Amino acid sequence: MERKNVWNTYSPKQLEEVDAFGKEYMYFLDHGKTERECTDLVVNMIEKEGYVELCRIVKEGRKLVKGDKVYAVCMNKSVVMFQIGEKPMTEGMNILGAHIDSPRLDVKQNPLYEDGGIAYLDTHYYGGVKKYQWVTLPLALHGVVVKKDGTCVEINVGEAEDDPVFFISDLLIHLASEQLEKKAAKVIEGEALDLIIGNMPMSPENEEEKEEKDAVKKSILKILKETYDIEEEDFMSAELEIVPAGRAREAGFDRSMILAYGHDDRVCAFSSLKAILEVGEVERTACCILVDKEEIGSVGATGMQSRFFENTVAEVLNLVGEYSELNLRRCLAASNMLSSDVSSAYDPTFASSFDKKNVAFMGQGMVFNKFTGARGKSGSNDANAEYIAHIRNLLEEEKVVYQTAELGKVDLGGGGTIAYILALYGMNVIDCGVAVISMHSPWEGISKADLYETKRGYVAFLKRACL
Ligand code: MN
Ligand code: MN
Repeated sequence: MERKNVWNTYSPKQLEEVDAFGKEYMYFLDHGKTERECTDLVVNMIEKEGYVELCRIVKEGRKLVKGDKVYAVCMNKSVVMFQIGEKPMTEGMNILGAHIDSPRLDVKQNPLYEDGGIAYLDTHYYGGVKKYQWVTLPLALHGVVVKKDGTCVEINVGEAEDDPVFFISDLLIHLASEQLEKKAAKVIEGEALDLIIGNMPMSPENEEEKEEKDAVKKSILKILKETYDIEEEDFMSAELEIVPAGRAREAGFDRSMILAYGHDDRVCAFSSLKAILEVGEVERTACCILVDKEEIGSVGATGMQSRFFENTVAEVLNLVGEYSELNLRRCLAASNMLSSDVSSAYDPTFASSFDKKNVAFMGQGMVFNKFTGARGKSGSNDANAEYIAHIRNLLEEEKVVYQTAELGKVDLGGGGTIAYILALYGMNVIDCGVAVISMHSPWEGISKADLYETKRGYVAFLKRACL
């Protein structure tokens, strides 16, 4: 099979678009480092484009007609949007889905302690991480602390130029002979991922206070009280996420790539979002789902397994005057979906982990994975051949450059996505997305051309898919 390099297919004007799109995406990454921040960003963006919150339409007793744009948010962490099409919804929708949570370290519920004159926040990692990658990096703290009275305090420290950052220590090389004998999975253990947040004791006001224990911790609590008006107990009802500090950057002398935290899966979330915003009139109702909790199995109210999506589709069907339980089933079963998530990019340094014939290459376009899973496709949605043929055809007619891939060699590992969950409705679903190098590391890499090409693929799908 012939492979095409996307860069060679672009006109000078397109190259400018690739660059501009990359910059827009980098802005999205810099301001959306958590699922909550992404949800806020998305809602701001789509409201400017005429999207109205579904509950407002319901309250006002309005109906939805062709061209109307609505969205619903679940617990500030996931969002689904619809653009009503020409055809009845019972004939099916064209759905783009991606996730907006990324691997990171979460702060525990009783996190604050002091040891050796250093104040720490204890963490529990979220999603699949190589723990040794998270030490000796500048880290930022993002999230919310919700106080007993319901006030929500937003926290975002470590991103502005003059903000302080936080860090996790590693053992100095001079004393590391025992550590270096350990397996990589044990070099840094989960409980060793404690965040250093301070080293200055509270200034003693009298002789007694000079002797006081935990003076550094107390000083941190005083700062937290003064800055955010929160107490130690408030960590109990907080969601604080520790992520790499700093902006997304163009990478390479040729600026062909983007190095950033959270490409998985904001690269697909952003391009799906942009696709639905620019698609124009559609025959089948267009839908875009951006969900939370994919990295830990799509669980919880804000994950893909939640009834939130199905409930929202029921509401929309009701507002277009088509609702019945049967019509809901028909609408979902007749839908086509692109379950978008990142795929592994071929990495020549680790060539032996990939089957070169069946892996994605950076710069070679949108990636399709017929199946994912592990140990004999286990846990995978295995897309239907008829559906793949339909998608191939429409992409080729729209001149979208794409490639097909598996994550890596058989039996080396694997991964899942949200595809199998939507497939439960009996709809056609295929995994696709953007190739990422060093996936799940603090700083992942992608090709700008793949980002742009994938968005083009999504637009083509929303316009034309109908199987
Ligand atoms: Mn993912
Ligand atoms: Mn992932």
